[in-house]
Amino acid sequence: MNELPARLKAIRDRIHTAAARCGRDPATVELLAVSKTHPAETIRAAVAAGQLLFGENKVQEILAKAPQLPAELHWHLIGHLQSNKVRKVLPLVKAIHSIDSLDLARDVNRIATELGLTAKVYLEVNLAEESTKHGFKVEEVRASLEALHALDRLDIQGLMCIPPFEADPELSRPYFTRLRELRDDLEKSSGKPLPLLSMGMSHDFEIAIEEGSTLVRVGTAIFGERPRKEG
Ligand SMILES: *Cc1c(COP(=O)(O)O)cnc(C)c1O
Repeated sequence: MNELPARLKAIRDRIHTAAARCGRDPATVELLAVSKTHPAETIRAAVAAGQLLFGENKVQEILAKAPQLPAELHWHLIGHLQSNKVRKVLPLVKAIHSIDSLDLARDVNRIATELGLTAKVYLEVNLAEESTKHGFKVEEVRASLEALHALDRLDIQGLMCIPPFEADPELSRPYFTRLRELRDDLEKSSGKPLPLLSMGMSHDFEIAIEEGSTLVRVGTAIFGERPRKEG
């Protein structure tokens, strides 16, 4: 793992270049280092290289790793969240990217109220309506938005998507465009801001940045391949 600082730097440079290429301020794009399946010691090496923002897709992994690592590190939950795990994870994370139903949003709002917290969340949109993936369908998010905005312990940051995998990242572009346009549309119809777009992964983050991503979720390109079996 001693190539980790160089890999992190290379990703930061590529984010910078992609943002500059399309006239965006590179400071408007955050790098979420997706550390799922990797041990705390690997994360510690990334922290030493200046990375403080990490993403995990399983509540259990955050619960296991967070106590082993410095408290100033920031965790984001990016995987599906079951209602029965909300209470445990909410105090540990800075944001949840995977609010995928109105029911889950209501549960998070209720538990945030009980805990005296405000939850920063993204609404996950399943743009291709893939049955294997979670997320609101486009029409569902439109129909639910008013009810979501009424949940006063949710601070809705914006939208998140995981488009279908395409070997050619250029084929992901239409999904990123659609998420941005959907965001613009929802802002207009609701009059409420949805400033952030969580989109782009290891193989397509530069294209996501060109389409307006404000946070890229990068795992493999920083930490290397994960063991085959993972969620
Ligand atoms: C694993 C994961 C990523 C990172 O994927 P890489 O291809 O390894 O960069 C991003 N987002 C979500 C939701 C993930 O589960």
